[in-house]
Amino acid sequence: MDTKDLGFDSKLIHAGMFDDQFGSATVPIYQTSTFKFKNADHGAACFAGESDGYIYTRLNNPTIDSLEKLVAALENGYRGIATSSGMGAVNTIYSAFLKQGDHMVSTAAVYGPSRVVMEKHYSKFGIESTYVNTSDPENIRKAIRKNTRMLYIETPANPTMDITDLEEVVKIAREHKLITVADNTFCSPYLQKPIDYGFDIVFHSITKFLNGHADIVGGVIVSRDKPLDELMRPVMINLGCNMDPHQAYMVIRGLKTLSVRIDRSQENAMHIAQFLEGHPKVKWVKYPGLVSHPQYVLARKQMDGPGAMISFEMKDGLCAGKTLMDRVKLCILAVSLGGVETLIQHPASMTHSKMDKESRERSGITDGLVRFSVGIENVEDIISDLDQAMKCI
Ligand SMILES: *Cc1c(COP(=O)(O)O)cnc(C)c1O
Repeated sequence: MDTKDLGFDSKLIHAGMFDDQFGSATVPIYQTSTFKFKNADHGAACFAGESDGYIYTRLNNPTIDSLEKLVAALENGYRGIATSSGMGAVNTIYSAFLKQGDHMVSTAAVYGPSRVVMEKHYSKFGIESTYVNTSDPENIRKAIRKNTRMLYIETPANPTMDITDLEEVVKIAREHKLITVADNTFCSPYLQKPIDYGFDIVFHSITKFLNGHADIVGGVIVSRDKPLDELMRPVMINLGCNMDPHQAYMVIRGLKTLSVRIDRSQENAMHIAQFLEGHPKVKWVKYPGLVSHPQYVLARKQMDGPGAMISFEMKDGLCAGKTLMDRVKLCILAVSLGGVETLIQHPASMTHSKMDKESRERSGITDGLVRFSVGIENVEDIISDLDQAMKCI
């Protein structure tokens, strides 16, 4: 069945599906490392790409194919490449498009490891990078050099919730013939489709909203056309950051409810953001759904909803943030995001505690900053949990 003209929710259920010999209603798990060839000629044809038979699971597998087609349909892209983790996707992209002497411009508040691997590892191969606040496109213009090849953005950024104007930055990238890459993990294609704005490559940590149930780690890359896909696929295969069939099955299952999960969690997030904004112990709240967000208008333009991620700052800094973590009962004290359960995290005392205060604050991580990933519980229960924990401060 051609799912191209179906609505987004229908694609979640039907895109990427295929008919197997038993008429399975869901995608089966092909838990096999390798596939039988019919004969030597068939084996040769598979390797030559003249037959679309399967060869070996690191290269391709029916369950993984199905997930790749599904996510590509959701992002309005050509094809997906599933990876072992979100970082597997990041490394496939960097390795495929950057070579010695090249330069990349990226969002300053990008997901930490995406920057660490570039600065610590790719720098050894002579690849340079500059990190700027991409929510002001002028900063990108100023950072572009003769050897710049890639513009890599994350929007909304983490944990600043700064938004980058997709349409505007694609224009700049095209003037300089740069490959454009968007980390769409925070939004999922339900809320934002960078390829529709002209981006070349979109990727996700599937671990977050796409899978949505905090039970697997994975990634996926979607490219806008065939040549980009063909350039990246062998890199993923040769780096060995392929997905596993069982992992792919879990994500296909989780994805079916993406829109209903996000509808509920962002409805909850809006109530919680308003509650926090009115709370005397909270200094500020950053949530794209609040009129107080400095880029509220841009968020409404390029996102189909404000999402489920909230950042807020406790008035009494480090100590207040830490106390809040120790007092919540329903909200789970954990990193990661995008699942059905509400997660809370205090970067200054947890993920970024080893960083000195000055460099922490330069990347937007102030002492009282709390990062909140809103789940689908009853919103009154989340608010009353926050309320009781705030009373202890
Ligand atoms: C989690 C995350 C990643 C990395 O994904 P893993 O699946 O943990 O490897 C990349 N980008 C963003 C925005 C993330 O939240």
